Amino acid sequence: MNISDLRKKLDSKEISAQEIFDEYFKKAEEENKKINCFININKEYSKKRLSKENNSILSNIPGVIKDNISIKDTITTAGSRMLEKYKSPYTASVVLNLKDFMLIGKGNMDSFAFGSSTENSGFGVTKNPLDLTRVAGGSSGGVSAAIASKLALFGIGTDTGGSVRQPASFCGVVGLKPTYGLCSRFGLIAMGSSFDVPGIITQNVKDAAIVLNEIAGYDVNDSTSVNIGKKDYTGLKKINKCKVGILKFPEEGLDKEVLEGFSSSVNLLKSMGMDIVEIDMKYIKYSLSVYYVIVPSEISANMSRYDGIRFGYHPEESFSVLDDFYKESRDKFEDEVKRRIMIGTFTLSQGYYDAYYNKAMKVRNLIKQEFIDTFKDIDFLVSPTTPTLPFHIGEKTKSPLSMYLSDIFTVPANVVGYPAISIPDKKFGDLFSGLQIIAKPFEEERLLSFANMMEEKLWK
Ligand code: GLN
Repeated sequence: MNISDLRKKLDSKEISAQEIFDEYFKKAEEENKKINCFININKEYSKKRLSKENNSILSNIPGVIKDNISIKDTITTAGSRMLEKYKSPYTASVVLNLKDFMLIGKGNMDSFAFGSSTENSGFGVTKNPLDLTRVAGGSSGGVSAAIASKLALFGIGTDTGGSVRQPASFCGVVGLKPTYGLCSRFGLIAMGSSFDVPGIITQNVKDAAIVLNEIAGYDVNDSTSVNIGKKDYTGLKKINKCKVGILKFPEEGLDKEVLEGFSSSVNLLKSMGMDIVEIDMKYIKYSLSVYYVIVPSEISANMSRYDGIRFGYHPEESFSVLDDFYKESRDKFEDEVKRRIMIGTFTLSQGYYDAYYNKAMKVRNLIKQEFIDTFKDIDFLVSPTTPTLPFHIGEKTKSPLSMYLSDIFTVPANVVGYPAISIPDKKFGDLFSGLQIIAKPFEEERLLSFANMMEEKLWK
């Protein structure tokens, strides 16, 4: 079932909102016991909101929201015990734009979105519904697992370095990271503010286009939101001939399935008559290093608000010794959160600022320029979404560095702010590899058209 089909059934009264409510919440409660994809299931909240009218395209359509996106009067934990009791005082703009959709639950995630497997969550790991011994990816692992299990028709996540595309790829669904500035960040719990964007996870490209239509747009509450006027992303067109760049990358560290999936897609592109150019970029290989200096720097600044005055855990009892208070409250931060605060504080410290933060910012500019130059000659840049198929739970938790490497293909698009999408590429047993397509800024219309065409060729 896709969004358009369910919309038609609701509009023709073939199915009622109450029936959808009963069916979806029953399934969500059952499946969550198996895969732990929700931190909260919002049954009571949604019961009160069941819409009598079907005014908007998403009225009464089941959706899942990542738990770092604020919804007024509901618990928003960002996957961290630090915020386990925190109720949002307002609703994020992207959620307001979804109007009267049906909120099934808040998606589990790595705490504060720091991670690639949802193993850093303070609320337990999310299992991959395609194989319960494997991770669902991260940090939007809960949303992706929920969509793959058909517990909702769409999900909203956040993507700072791949957290929408990577888990979408691991769960065999579609993940769209829009251009930085196209969708408002107001009400998202900040991670790396110059990288963060809200993103969309769906079962297919057409549904992603429908949801983008709703959430894209200028917002006075976000000064980095860009006013390009309202566009319609749903008129997906056939793209006959275009120039597709194939990113040249070293093959070591890549699963053979991923390589096999990717080369068959390249062959498919050739057979479709696309103009294929191999792209060798000089600076792109520094994206991950740049990311892991600048993002922790921004994180360390953003995390200072959890000081127990503005935000953060408030212990029940009072302490006479300040250290005891700190121990009780700061210990709510999960290990990866502490690690990133420490790295970021170091890279921004007076003695090391120039050597790390400043240098990384210079390289970020070089990468941006390289993307501008490269995209003068091509329409799209394609690569695998992730270097491996979904890994086993526990496989990478001992080595943060090997975990960081799983974002090698997704991070560049965030470094430069370009839009990118991941679609399922090839099936191996129950698992999928993912194909990533990057387009020019604010060319989501073409990106979605191209992805839709590829999806049809690959899967229909
Ligand atoms: N996995 C990356 C990280 O841990 C990306 C996270 C994200 O996009 N939120 O930083």
